[in-house]
Amino acid sequence: MSADERSGQFASDNNAGIAPEALEAFVRANAGHAAGYGNDRWTREAADAVRRTFDADVPVYFVPTGTAANALAIASICRPTDAVVCHEFAHVNVDECGACEAASGGAKLLAVAGPGAKVTPEAFAARAVAHDEHASRPRALSLTQATELGTVYAPRELGALADAAHARGMKVHLDGARFANAVAALGCAPADLAQRAGVDVLAFGGTKNGLPFGEALVFFDAALAEEFARRRKQAGHLASKMRFVAAPWIAMLENGRWLAYAAHANAMARRLADGLANVPGAVLIAPTQANGVFVELPPRVIEGLRARGWRFYVFVGDTGCRFMCAWDTAERDVDRLLADVAALAG
Ligand SMILES: *Cc1c(COP(=O)(O)O)cnc(C)c1O
Repeated sequence: MSADERSGQFASDNNAGIAPEALEAFVRANAGHAAGYGNDRWTREAADAVRRTFDADVPVYFVPTGTAANALAIASICRPTDAVVCHEFAHVNVDECGACEAASGGAKLLAVAGPGAKVTPEAFAARAVAHDEHASRPRALSLTQATELGTVYAPRELGALADAAHARGMKVHLDGARFANAVAALGCAPADLAQRAGVDVLAFGGTKNGLPFGEALVFFDAALAEEFARRRKQAGHLASKMRFVAAPWIAMLENGRWLAYAAHANAMARRLADGLANVPGAVLIAPTQANGVFVELPPRVIEGLRARGWRFYVFVGDTGCRFMCAWDTAERDVDRLLADVAALAG
């Protein structure tokens, strides 16, 4: 394999292509003319498939990106004078160029520290305090599942945080760019990590799990969806050829394909983490619970891997590396990577 062929292999799960079922559905939807802006049968069927997945009769909207999903969800909760408690590593805090702040017209993000990129009940309670008019009012708790360090919240952890938020009159937003990986890892029902755990609005990720693009916003608190259709349009996130965003969802949610792909990605991360356990100098930054491996590697190993053409991010400090596995990550690529790490570390 040339360096080019394996480039991108572990950089991000969004470097992967489109899963075959999703691509076939995309092509099948290319059948002549259909009504635009989501007034087509594919969009209706996809929204129904999402509702069936959660066993919930609630509003569902598709948007093209995860940033749009998060920002519009936060804007549905927050006034410009409100605040959002989130983890300091949260995508909304560090990787969305202020989209939540811009979409809400000024809501302030209150970032807290916590091991494994998880918000702890203690950190939440310390930050979710309403002061007087000089400070924004905490109005949303934003959590990420699976987290930015590849950990997952158990249903009970989510539920306790959501209860604490609701007790303060706050709403819970879940950034589920990797929701599939969390469900696959925990082996629970999707609803157990969503409305049954107190989530009010979920950004249900599709892109990183093998869709061409598109995330679904699921409003378990239906009141938050009021005027959402206009909010999405105003932000420029209403795709006119919506059927091509929606059709792949139908194929992926059918027969549990979405969970099979997520489980595969998780298994590849597990294989990588298990292999790294035998490598001197490799120290996991966080437990591997989903599809990402976060590990400290000696600088000479990092340099050597780069020289051999491997692509991955240094994500934490100067030596904390992130290796993301995707729906199509091959076992042999994990094994080749491990062999190179071992050779360089040895
Ligand atoms: C990738 C990702 C998103 C969505 O990002 P887009 O590039 O806007 O689609 C959101 N949250 C997390 C945690 C992510 O990893």
